[in-house]
Amino acid sequence: MIHPPIPAKQSDSSLSKYPEHSATNPLSVHAMTVAYHQKPVLWDIDYDAPLGSLIAIVGPNGAGKTTFMKACLEIIPVASGTIEFWGAPYAKGRARIGYVPQRESVDWDFPISALEVVTMGRYGKLGWFRRVKKEDRDLAFKFLDDVGLADFASRQINQLSGGQQQRVFLARALAQEAELYFMDEPFAGVDAATERAIIEILQKLKNHGKTVICVHHDLTTVPEYFDNVMLLNTRVIAAGSVKEVFTQENLKKTYGGKLTLLDEVSEAIAKAKGS
Ligand code: ADP
Repeated sequence: MIHPPIPAKQSDSSLSKYPEHSATNPLSVHAMTVAYHQKPVLWDIDYDAPLGSLIAIVGPNGAGKTTFMKACLEIIPVASGTIEFWGAPYAKGRARIGYVPQRESVDWDFPISALEVVTMGRYGKLGWFRRVKKEDRDLAFKFLDDVGLADFASRQINQLSGGQQQRVFLARALAQEAELYFMDEPFAGVDAATERAIIEILQKLKNHGKTVICVHHDLTTVPEYFDNVMLLNTRVIAAGSVKEVFTQENLKKTYGGKLTLLDEVSEAIAKAKGS
């Protein structure tokens, strides 16, 4: 297979190169290409996340969804392109950005309690050499309570169920009091009650003007949970409001022959349009 050449990396700048990337726009990605071992897995991505929205990133396995999040957060390097947060590079915006990685990517055997994990979410706010204060711990406890885990505060994280671990991570992200959140499959492996609890929290964040971007797998819940969507398969197939771009045609373009759920998804789309 012949892959297109990878363009040279552009230099960083502390100021937005693109006039359309305003200081109110939480995330602006321009011409982003990411490659593993010279093979591009994301190609020429242009994307602007609208402020105060709940955004789903959907696409088949291997489409580059996790890679997109990691590249935005400088966890992996980009081959080319620019990524800006509120019109400036990641380093300037990082304190305003929260990240919930995939649950499986974390070492849950690390000997630490649920409360300690959530308290760590405060570190970005504390800065160097400042100790965790009682008020940070109290706040961390409040966020644990918000996700329904107050009774588990002193429990070691390896003694929590998958759904509880996911909620601890969510509480940790809330403790950051960020303005933009990246969440990689926040509903993976959780029961229906936990899923409901998580979506309520995400909707509350959105109602407070925060922007939340989630990798999401269940296409049938996209119209109910999210207002915005990015359809990704190496390239951005479509991005915008769920009402406008979450269509059968775009889903077919994104999933190709792999989409067997189309009828169920169509039903969900029709239901959301009727509501
Ligand atoms: P998605 O989240 O949509 O399932 P990923 O971003 O995890 O997709 O992966 C996109 C592509 O990049 C896949 O083909 C995957 O195999 C490949 N990939 C992901 N991580 C690595 C890595 N660390 N090294 C090499 N290839 C990788």
